[in-house]
Amino acid sequence: MKLPALKHEKIGRKTMKATYMLKSEGRRISVEVLFKPVKTTRLRVFPDGRVSLTVPTHAPERWVWDVLEQKSAWIARKVALAEQQRTGTAELVRASGIVVILGTPLRIELSHARPKRVWVGNGDGKLYLQSPKAEDSAALERQLDAWWKKTAALYFTQLIKQWYPLLGREEQLPAPQISVKKMRTRWGSCNWQKNKINLNYYLFRATPACVEFVILHELAHLRYPKHDKDFYAFLDRQMPDWKTRKTTLDRDYTTAL
Ligand SMILES: [Zn+2]
Repeated sequence: MKLPALKHEKIGRKTMKATYMLKSEGRRISVEVLFKPVKTTRLRVFPDGRVSLTVPTHAPERWVWDVLEQKSAWIARKVALAEQQRTGTAELVRASGIVVILGTPLRIELSHARPKRVWVGNGDGKLYLQSPKAEDSAALERQLDAWWKKTAALYFTQLIKQWYPLLGREEQLPAPQISVKKMRTRWGSCNWQKNKINLNYYLFRATPACVEFVILHELAHLRYPKHDKDFYAFLDRQMPDWKTRKTTLDRDYTTAL
């Protein structure tokens, strides 16, 4: 590992700060090292992805590197997790400003104007975010978040309406109610007793083929609550390529959960 030129900066009466660039698993991670009158080291990864290591005032550079190298896999994992936790709309307003909707990357185009509005450009690969508070990133996030949730729900509902008759149930129950929620471990869930389907907020990132697969899977549970033979026979019949869709979904979109 190459040692960068470290700049120590005094940030308190007894505290010096230096930034170490750690390379781990192909990524560069900046670590803020605080030299303080302490006896033990303390390593933390904050929810915003910032990494901080507190070491005794006179800890030698080589020793700091040893600590970091030993912990590098752990740090990389925590940073990646923190990043995933922030995804959703927080990432959208960050510098790169790329958001993926239904499998298509769109660049966010901010404009400072009234009224508050969000729309997808017509084939120009852009998502327009208009706000009278374009400098207020928290407000932009909330705006985008609300739009995302509403738009995803509309899209999902339209698919449910389209696919629901496939269930062919004798007793005509009304189409299920859906709700869109941020979920960490599931793309969707179905409460067949209540005729309700929950869909993951982040599912709106996946391609339409993948979204359809999740919707059909959850709809199927209204008739076949368990993952049994009949359940899979139904999926095979209605969507012969569902396994391919599932593979794509799990491979390309799960990391963003
Ligand atoms: Zn299931």
